Amino acid sequence: MSITPLRPGSADGRVPDRDHPSSTTATADEVKRALERARRAQRVWGALSFRERARYLRRVRKALVADVDGMVATIVDDTGKLPTEALVNEVLLVCELMRYYERHGGAALATRRVRAGLLVNKAAEVRYEPLGVVGVISPWNYPLVLALGAVVTALFAGNTVLLKPSEITPHVGLAIGALFDTVADQEDGLGDLVQVLVGAGSVGEMLVRSGVDKVSFTGSVATGKAVMRCAADTLTPVLLELGGKDPMVVCDDANLDRAAHAAVWGAFTNSGQTCMAVERVYVTAAVYDAFVGKVVDATRKLRQGSGRGHDVGPMTWDRQTEIVRRHLDDAIERGATVAVGGKSVTIGGRPSIEPTVLLDVDDSMLVMREETFGPILPIMEVADAAEALTKANASAYGLNSSIWTRDPVQLEQMIAGLEDGSVCVNDCLISYAIPALPFGGVKSSGVGRAHGIEGLREFSKTKSVARDRIGLRNEPLWLPVPRWLDRGARILLRLRHGL
Ligand code: NAD
Repeated sequence: MSITPLRPGSADGRVPDRDHPSSTTATADEVKRALERARRAQRVWGALSFRERARYLRRVRKALVADVDGMVATIVDDTGKLPTEALVNEVLLVCELMRYYERHGGAALATRRVRAGLLVNKAAEVRYEPLGVVGVISPWNYPLVLALGAVVTALFAGNTVLLKPSEITPHVGLAIGALFDTVADQEDGLGDLVQVLVGAGSVGEMLVRSGVDKVSFTGSVATGKAVMRCAADTLTPVLLELGGKDPMVVCDDANLDRAAHAAVWGAFTNSGQTCMAVERVYVTAAVYDAFVGKVVDATRKLRQGSGRGHDVGPMTWDRQTEIVRRHLDDAIERGATVAVGGKSVTIGGRPSIEPTVLLDVDDSMLVMREETFGPILPIMEVADAAEALTKANASAYGLNSSIWTRDPVQLEQMIAGLEDGSVCVNDCLISYAIPALPFGGVKSSGVGRAHGIEGLREFSKTKSVARDRIGLRNEPLWLPVPRWLDRGARILLRLRHGL
């Protein structure tokens, strides 16, 4: 790794400042030279078999686990999140994704024979080839799993990577670079598999314009649109993993204890700073009071604080806290009731907000329309499941949703009706933790898919190969046009298509 303005793990616990992200920012010249090095490394890496690449990346996974405490500490320093959240939701999740691709990626990228249809004298196959160099731009809320997850997926597919981590969490980005350094043997030509470019949005924009072969972007809808506009100039393909406003639908027959505990976890884990957090709950009238009682009880018991022994950590930085406060104040002004929480607090030096349950909410409130990205759980009473479905879909977002019912017929209708990239049944958030399931949004929540076979193929060029099997001197379709061709085509049309 060539650009190391900060030492991994050296964060001093300051609240991050997005306007002054780090002492050093990658320059246009550094981006250009990094791309040249990445192209050279890709020629070596892309020529390896999948098995060889998987063996190498297994060493990276082992190196990550060998220094798990160092990585957890770096994540905690950069974000303020609880150590257990860093361990489980970041290190363990990304290790599981890597293990899945080590085992199943080879089959997903293997050359596939397909039928040649009418052309019985041809053989046809589909190949998946590396794109070249992938630019990964990542956010601050899960700075390891969302950066390293995209990085390794691109690598498994035979690409090399330029990573632009969030300026709020640069040390985790640099720790990812250092992780690859520990495995790289300079003799093997693989020293530049992953290069880290530190800086704010301007560095991200340089990366998009640099000539990389694809951009994998995870972040807000507004920035995602800017990235897509910018990438259009060079027709650079983009994978966009954007924000959400995920609904939870609780029906009459739901297991209320389980649903209430899930809502509390889904809304407050990582202090609500999760793209697929539960941000809106629609509960049918018959069970509304009972559900609310259970959620409020469970929320009252939460221990908010910094470090081990707590359930909810601080928020990461002040600008996000301000957005959450604005949503909360707007809701209260418009008549919402705070059932529990609601106060601004400082935890571990970071401005935060208490885990808050909001009742008496309506569709005009910001907290029901825009992504809040903080520890707020608004609950709305609806007449029935049909109204819940209509409200759940009345959103610009479509990332993930959860449906709580024991009725299989109702369940199938809901799964088919929900306009989201993934749906969790009697559970929430958990689809992300299943590496074989493609993850991504519809509507404003994104374009393309991470994880699963689909995620790996996002970073591959599909090449179609048609091969002649017989070697005739002349083919029926070639020139001169055979006299019988017209009549023969009509016979085929009648036989195969009922003309
Ligand atoms: P953000 O859009 O502000 O920044 C994301 C990244 O883009 C950062 O690295 C930033 O420096 C970079 N960037 C900023 N301007 C850029 C530009 N013009 N060109 C290129 N890059 C640019 O998002 P954030 O605040 O870091 O993250 C929070 C958002 O990310 C939330 O909306 C959340 O829902 C979303 N998110 C989505 C997913 C998902 O998988 N769908 C996961 C996590 C977070």
